[in-house]
Amino acid sequence: MTQPDSALLNRANHKCEICEGDQELSVFIVEPSNETHSSETLVCRVCKPELESAQEDAAKNQHWFCLQNAMWNEVAAVKVISLRLLNRFKAERWAQDLLDQAYFEEDIIEWANAGESENATDDTNDWPPTFDSNGTQLATGDNVTLIRDLDVKGTSFVAKRGTLVRGIRVIEDPEYVEGRVNKITIMLKTCFLKKA
Ligand SMILES: [Zn+2]
Repeated sequence: MTQPDSALLNRANHKCEICEGDQELSVFIVEPSNETHSSETLVCRVCKPELESAQEDAAKNQHWFCLQNAMWNEVAAVKVISLRLLNRFKAERWAQDLLDQAYFEEDIIEWANAGESENATDDTNDWPPTFDSNGTQLATGDNVTLIRDLDVKGTSFVAKRGTLVRGIRVIEDPEYVEGRVNKITIMLKTCFLKKA
């Protein structure tokens, strides 16, 4: 266990920078290292094992409501942890709501994605290719337009034909991509999309 130095303890006000707990504080290093920002964060014994494993633990779900504060922390490494955790839980309503409210600078998003990309790339390589309604292959980051009105499940709004959806994400199921419409992340059926 790496002992935190006094500079880190002072920055963190002697509390876990994620949940403000004060039990067995130790250093958690955000990977990969970053040229601009310090990778060190101060975390407690509840947060640390969770951060070290990539396991989703539904029982710990409530613990992570603390991210509503942590995501506004001024320390870049803490923002990166917050963003990664919110992404991990983004199937949950609370995490989705926080992601909608949150603001992360471009370099934070890049850093957060940099750590995840190793696994993500391995996965996506095995996935079947995703095509739009014209048979054009879609990739994560592409922009698409809707070619018909779509009811959005779980909401009262209709995504109108012609709506531009920026920065979609392909998923394992080639019949759908993930995209944000009206600030909500939804699954879009690829047969109703055209690459923009
Ligand atoms: Zn904590």
